[in-house]
Amino acid sequence: MEKIRMQTPLVEMDGDEMTRILWQMIKDELLLPFVELNTEYYDLGLERRNETDDQITIDSANAAMKYGVAVKCATITPNAARMTEYDLKEMWKSPNGTIRAMLDGTVFRTPIVVKGIEPCVKNWKKPITIARHAYGDVYKNAEMVIPGAGEVKLVYVPADGSPEQTVSVHNFDGCGIVQGLHNLDHSIESFAKSCFEYALDTKQDLWFSTKDTISKKYDHRFKDIFADLYENQYKARFEEVGITYFYTLIDDAVARIMKAEGGFIWACKNYDGDVMSDMVSSAFGSLAMMTSVLVSPDGKYEYEAAHGTVQRHYYKHLKGEETSTNSVATIFAWSGALRKRGELDGSKELMDFADKLEKATLDTIESGKMTKDLALITSIQNPEVLNSQDFILAIRKNLETML
Ligand code: NAP
Ligand code: MG
Repeated sequence: MEKIRMQTPLVEMDGDEMTRILWQMIKDELLLPFVELNTEYYDLGLERRNETDDQITIDSANAAMKYGVAVKCATITPNAARMTEYDLKEMWKSPNGTIRAMLDGTVFRTPIVVKGIEPCVKNWKKPITIARHAYGDVYKNAEMVIPGAGEVKLVYVPADGSPEQTVSVHNFDGCGIVQGLHNLDHSIESFAKSCFEYALDTKQDLWFSTKDTISKKYDHRFKDIFADLYENQYKARFEEVGITYFYTLIDDAVARIMKAEGGFIWACKNYDGDVMSDMVSSAFGSLAMMTSVLVSPDGKYEYEAAHGTVQRHYYKHLKGEETSTNSVATIFAWSGALRKRGELDGSKELMDFADKLEKATLDTIESGKMTKDLALITSIQNPEVLNSQDFILAIRKNLETML
């Protein structure tokens, strides 16, 4: 069989621990035998980040902006324990944070839906994708404990010397607390654009929710920015594709989600997205079955698994013990990136390969062969629990019959 050619390079960002082991297995068994892989390789493993003073992360993000499509392995975000473990020069920042900031992107998380792993919300038939705004609100707040009676005010001091603006927050007659939040028009616009672009890209309806009836300036600003962009830049394209943009209050959205079938994107403010993405992922079954894609406002894509480096399994692996680590989300990161690369290059062959790789993976699970984490939650009778390597080999067998 002739291998599938790739015209433009795909940016490959390697990572750490157990997912780094899976990464190589996936390449060796599921990609390299079938595709003439054309990647620009960046090793984001912690050792290399430390050697290069984290320049490698910046270089990889620049490459993602240049080529438009990247695939990333999970990476360690250093903490105090990692400083000693890897003898680090500095507590390097999270690569995901650096890449997201450079691409000014939004993260979309989608569960992989497969027969045998049913969501606990029984009417959810299709995935619900959550888009979380990644700037401001409570995550960049200013807080104060108020020790006793007195007034708290919000004061804006214009840089150009024009008169100050003041509003009273509260006139305290005793102890209390206060919190100041902010956001930026530019950041909200980027978030909105990424959401509209991704909805068009995946041909799914877009929902957005805030509490604008109560927060008449702050949340209302989010609503207005989304509405303006939609009216002026996206409405015609949405109508052409046959998808809708739907705005509703956050509590109405939550109530509707429970009764919905799925198959849409739900854009959430930072805090709502933090909370709701954990709810949706646990209701769909497993963190190991969650994919994640970072989308920039100008349509650059970085695909990855939502889970981390699975450190506990890696230590077992190092001791020579058998592991049964789920590679599905990492495989789907590759298939997502290859499909997008194929789409941009007009390579139907590459897009077909990505579809088949996903189908071979899902068929493997549906035939009862799976990793331990899925065997624990599946409705399939007597599942066959495979180790990390054998699960990937079982997928390869299925894939070979399709090509
Ligand atoms: P984790 O790697 O997601 O793993 C937490 C636990 O979830 C595992 O111990 C395992 O449970 C289960 N799990 C996750 N993925 C699995 C898979 N593919 N197959 C089977 N089980 C899976 O989170 P963590 O242990 O908190 O973090 C480890 C490292 O990952 C940290 O250094 C963190 O900084 C990094 N991290 C990176 C990213 C990223 O790059 N996107 C995201 C999150 C965390 P059992 O042990 O019970 O089997
Ligand atoms: Mg959370």
